[in-house]
Amino acid sequence: MAEQIKAELKAVKGMNDILPPDSARWEWFEDKVRALMQRYGYANLRTPIVEPTALFVRGLGEVTDIVEKEMYSFEDSMNGDKLTLRPENTAGVVRAVAEHSLLYDGGKRIYYMGPMFRHERPQRGRYRQFHQVGAEALGFGGPDVDAELILMCRSLWRDIGLTDVRLELNSLGQPDERRAHRAALIAYFEQHRDQLDAEAQRRLHSNPLRILDTKNPAMQALVEAAPRLMDFLGEASLAHFNAVRAVLDANGLEYRINPRLVRGMDYYNLTVFEWVTDRLGSQGTVCGGGRYDYLIEQVGGKPAPAVGWALGMERVLELLRELGGEAPARPPHAYAVVPDSGSLGTVMSTLETLRAAGVSVLMHAGGKDGQGSMKSQFKKADASGARYALVFGADELAQGMVALKPLREASASQRLLPIAEAAAWAAELLNA
Ligand code: ATP
Ligand code: MG
Repeated sequence: MAEQIKAELKAVKGMNDILPPDSARWEWFEDKVRALMQRYGYANLRTPIVEPTALFVRGLGEVTDIVEKEMYSFEDSMNGDKLTLRPENTAGVVRAVAEHSLLYDGGKRIYYMGPMFRHERPQRGRYRQFHQVGAEALGFGGPDVDAELILMCRSLWRDIGLTDVRLELNSLGQPDERRAHRAALIAYFEQHRDQLDAEAQRRLHSNPLRILDTKNPAMQALVEAAPRLMDFLGEASLAHFNAVRAVLDANGLEYRINPRLVRGMDYYNLTVFEWVTDRLGSQGTVCGGGRYDYLIEQVGGKPAPAVGWALGMERVLELLRELGGEAPARPPHAYAVVPDSGSLGTVMSTLETLRAAGVSVLMHAGGKDGQGSMKSQFKKADASGARYALVFGADELAQGMVALKPLREASASQRLLPIAEAAAWAAELLNA
């Protein structure tokens, strides 16, 4: 029965507990991510969850959704420092890389995994504390790493059995090309001012690019016919874009060029991309990324090019569930049935030997009223999903033995095994 918890003691709205057994799915996914990063040579960087507010204002741009309305910012009550719970982690990674001069001997490939915080309206696939995995290649200016990072995503989708995500690709060019496009865009929207909604009117001069990202159906036709950045790209930008595309083509990775893909942060240039699905309603972007060659300098580091992506772990796991893909369960190898607590010393030293050999054993834990009936212990053994019960009965213990009882095969009968040789038969449990 659900306990009555006082409202003020409940989890904060939009911030979720991840409970067992669901947490096993998270661990399974995290293991896949670590293996992926290992294969591609990306090293783990762990930054604090709290950063100076100025890092995000400088890094993400003042007129972005995140900085304008989504950040959890507060003053340190001890010294008045202005702090923010990280809404994303590219800025933090860049800060750490600059602060510790990590690029002194060349480029670095970095990944991270952890909670992010944005004050948004909670709904499916959108939470106030959510989790991202991110990969960043810093100090590399060529199209090769852009393509590598995109291929990595595909590899991850394959590893976890995720189908039904599509790649969308665009190039945002360089700052001067964007300036020329921006001027053309403002002129175009000014001509059609009467068709702009309030949000777009407000952004017309501060961030006209974001108007292209509008979800307002009434503005779709207008946005569709707006001047395209692609037409303002110079030779070098086009060459970079085409080189990325050539690698994707050579790898049979399909994509759609989406000229309206602009991404929410100001810091992107050249390549931008998103992995999207139709199955998560309006929260269809599972992963997004791109190149950010000017961010390091922007937050005070020595200029260096960089590119990266971040995926939303909740959305990936929800999509997996939607598609019916389940993370494999990881039941213990064995469940220890302990009829008599008087034998705990021998029982637990045997289990320690087995665990040291890699066997996972769930021990029946009694309460202060004793161990409970054999029947109830076997019921729990069965429910645990374990392949075997290890029964530490008094008669067997007296002979230095424990009974191994298969729980999943109807025909198999139980055997007695010598406790003193537990390390030797542990391998059998492991490989069963
Ligand atoms: P959206 O357009 O959905 O708001 P975004 O452009 O703000 O996404 P990014 O900042 O690029 O998202 O973050 C990368 C990924 O993190 C997103 O593609 C998404 O999967 C995930 N994500 C972003 N915000 C949230 C959130 N509030 N809750 C859950 N996942 C999120
Ligand atoms: Mg957002």
